[in-house]
Amino acid sequence: MVREGRELRGPVVYWMSRDQRAKDNWALEFALHKAHKNNVPSVAVFCFSTDYPQLTLRSFVFMLGGLQVLAKNLNERHIPFILLIGNPVERIPEFVKEVEAGCLICDFDPLKWKREWLRGVAEKIQVPFFQVDAHNVVPCWLASDHKEYAARTFRPRLLRKLDTFFSDYPPGLENPMPWPGRVPEQDWNTITNFQKHLLPVDPVPLIPGEDEAMSVLEKFLEERLASYDRERNNPLSGMSSGLSPYIHFGHISAQRILLELDQIRIDMPSENAFREQVLVRRELSENYCWYEPSYDMVDGFPNWARKTLDKHLYDSRPYLYDKQELEYGMTHDALWNAAQREMVVSGSMHGYLRMYWAKKILEWTASPEEAMGYALEFNDRYQVDGRDPNGYTGVAWCIGGVHDRPWKERPVFGQIRYMSYGGCRRKFDVEAYIDHWSGKEEDR
Ligand SMILES: Cc1cc2nc3c(=O)[nH]c(=O)nc-3n(C[C@H](O)[C@H](O)[C@H](O)COP(=O)(O)OP(=O)(O)OC[C@H]3O[C@@H](n4cnc5c(N)ncnc54)[C@H](O)[C@@H]3O)c2cc1C
Repeated sequence: MVREGRELRGPVVYWMSRDQRAKDNWALEFALHKAHKNNVPSVAVFCFSTDYPQLTLRSFVFMLGGLQVLAKNLNERHIPFILLIGNPVERIPEFVKEVEAGCLICDFDPLKWKREWLRGVAEKIQVPFFQVDAHNVVPCWLASDHKEYAARTFRPRLLRKLDTFFSDYPPGLENPMPWPGRVPEQDWNTITNFQKHLLPVDPVPLIPGEDEAMSVLEKFLEERLASYDRERNNPLSGMSSGLSPYIHFGHISAQRILLELDQIRIDMPSENAFREQVLVRRELSENYCWYEPSYDMVDGFPNWARKTLDKHLYDSRPYLYDKQELEYGMTHDALWNAAQREMVVSGSMHGYLRMYWAKKILEWTASPEEAMGYALEFNDRYQVDGRDPNGYTGVAWCIGGVHDRPWKERPVFGQIRYMSYGGCRRKFDVEAYIDHWSGKEEDR
């Protein structure tokens, strides 16, 4: 509960933020359940904040397409969808007041700006304000009550709670009564006008929305899951699911992915490997961002990692690059340049290469602080799935040993796990990848 208060007999407002879908959404179902109980209508509101960090045209176009599908799907259940524009800390309380809401419900996000919004909104409203974790299978604050040290400490806790939380979704409720008065026609043009204020990163041809997310999942389970365990670390195989943008924008829930996974039995190692990523690793990232206020800074690293990085701070670096050289993929390493290019051009980078990519930023910049800054800025700006707990935790794992352990000491990295070009070569056809993404012979 974000804010206690006396529940009034007014509409139930669901402030949808992270989980942008009409199906398989516990926050929406909770809102409808309350509306039925109180015999009042419910409404879903999305507030588009124009000063959201790293708001690019790329992520905006993907999100907007998803919202249009969502509005249609909500409409089929007679749930009005209202799009507000502006600062949620102002706009949500104004809306709550305007419609004389009985209570407010929102979905869960461990990231700081969302938490600040919630605090700001809670200060301005009088009605009860509930938060429902519709993103995770086990609500983040119940999965563990502290920052976990590693997957091995988190996994048993999480798995124990599955009996309670991993169930099929009930059939979605309809709105108990029509919205009183006119639902404003959705003005998609006004929001489209904001495009000129966004960071100019080109959109990518990825179809957004919850309907497409289900198709991507089905296709993956049918055609590629069987090879996931063997091929997922090969960026050329295309064997991973490609679900991360859809999970990030809440177009599909992790719980739905796992429910569908349970329906098929083809290859145990692959099923287990995929379940480990979708469930354990993803929810571990949520745990890190929820319990570690400095999740995007060096201060969040474990003590052993900070110490070892400090000890090696003044080691001579074989190469030092500035932000522009990194951003434009102008390093001596053709594999790194190709990975950077894959991200900039396609809005995605293969998971295995993301690790290599971030570790090399540590190796080629003057300090871990600088490395964190660049890695997060590029990740959030160019990846469609950026600005996600997985991104902050993934970068912190690579650069700061978060959820990892000390390894053999070496220059610059100290005891942080190292990755090499030669290691990548043993995993996949590096030359073919470079050819594909750079096509420049002279880079090698
Ligand atoms: C430096 C770095 C940056 C990253 N940035 C992001 C990011 O911005 N957004 C993002 O969603 N993921 C990020 N990841 C995690 C992971 O690389 C991506 O989730 C994955 O590559 C997405 O592709 P996929 O959906 O095909 O993955 P699949 O292999 O098909 O996995 C399915 C799902 O499991 C989850 N998952 C997979 N790998 C991980 C992991 N290592 N940690 C946590 N969850 C995982 C994701 O939700 C993913 O969509 C990052 C990892 C690193 C090392």
